[in-house]
Amino acid sequence: GSGSTGTDDSERTIAGRVDSQDSTVSDGENADPRCTRQNSVSSVSQSLREWDIPYDELDRGEVIGKGRFGIVYSGNWHGHVAIKELRMDYVNDEKTLEAFKAEVSTFRKTRHENLVLFMGACMKPPRLAIVTSLCKGRTLYTHIHVQKDKFNMSKTIMIAQQISQGMGYLHARGIVHKDLKTKNIFLESGKVVITDFGLFNVTRLCFDTRRGNWLSIPPGWLCYLAPEVMRSLRVVQKQDDGLPFTPYSDIYCFGTVWYELLCGEWPHKGLPPEAIIWQVGRGMKPSLANLQASRDVKDILMACWSYQPYERPEFSNIQITLNKLPKKRLHRSPSHPIHLSRSAES
Ligand code: ADP
Ligand code: MG
Repeated sequence: GSGSTGTDDSERTIAGRVDSQDSTVSDGENADPRCTRQNSVSSVSQSLREWDIPYDELDRGEVIGKGRFGIVYSGNWHGHVAIKELRMDYVNDEKTLEAFKAEVSTFRKTRHENLVLFMGACMKPPRLAIVTSLCKGRTLYTHIHVQKDKFNMSKTIMIAQQISQGMGYLHARGIVHKDLKTKNIFLESGKVVITDFGLFNVTRLCFDTRRGNWLSIPPGWLCYLAPEVMRSLRVVQKQDDGLPFTPYSDIYCFGTVWYELLCGEWPHKGLPPEAIIWQVGRGMKPSLANLQASRDVKDILMACWSYQPYERPEFSNIQITLNKLPKKRLHRSPSHPIHLSRSAES
């Protein structure tokens, strides 16, 4: 269904170690999606093999940074690439390996100019890594929060449009991003490139630092959590319990990104984590006191941050609404009539 990550079949396949058969459909562009589904058992393992990169073939360069996933290196593999290495001290069971392979099997389905190019993965322990194209620009996070860049309205809308296009494509392919945030959105000479879709399960399993009654919360993460995700934080004690990420929770994240683009800061600024968890879980939205913007612009925020997941608009609706926004000014122009875009309810 639209709420799944599309990895159900793959997980079963990998767990069952089903070998590919001769009838496997090719993973090429002409593959009929219906055939792909019918043959998912064979095509998943086939495609996993097709995307396997022997670790020795990678020419690993310098460290770009460290994240939840592990260390990210720049490198060379038929050109400049980013190599995301999973920290192997955390991959000590079959389950983590299976989760990794399942995530990898969804990447083969992603071909969109606003999504980072997935090139392959090293899937043989002790070397697990994901290889993607190397993003040359800076992340939206760096632009907004480090460089304090101010985008004009036309650029802000252009960026939001491209994010919606990439995200709309992911959702149409049955993939939930699960970690849409400004740190995972690059801007390369005007082009938006979204990274790290579908990787959250792996990071959760690898970096499970929760002990006893403690919950480890990465900095800057809370403001992207939809109420339903926030409310389930407390029950995520066992490894088996995942957080309920859905396409709707991705929309909530988009709302937060839209806010950051408009305001140049995080929602809930200055609030302690406990207060954010309590307020969002109870249906309170971040204050818009710092946002000088037209009604239409705020309506997008409010719709994306709807308490009820199904009231949040789909990316196709968001695109239509963004298209209608006046591109000239951030503040409401008196000559522009207030247009209430209630796309969430349409
Ligand atoms: P986070 O997304 O939380 O910053 P990551 O592990 O995804 O953590 O990234 C670690 C660092 O590597 C970040 O500085 C990020 O910008 C950089 N990075 C990740 N993917 C790429 C990529 N494809 N191209 C260039 N830099 C990347
Ligand atoms: Mg990232």
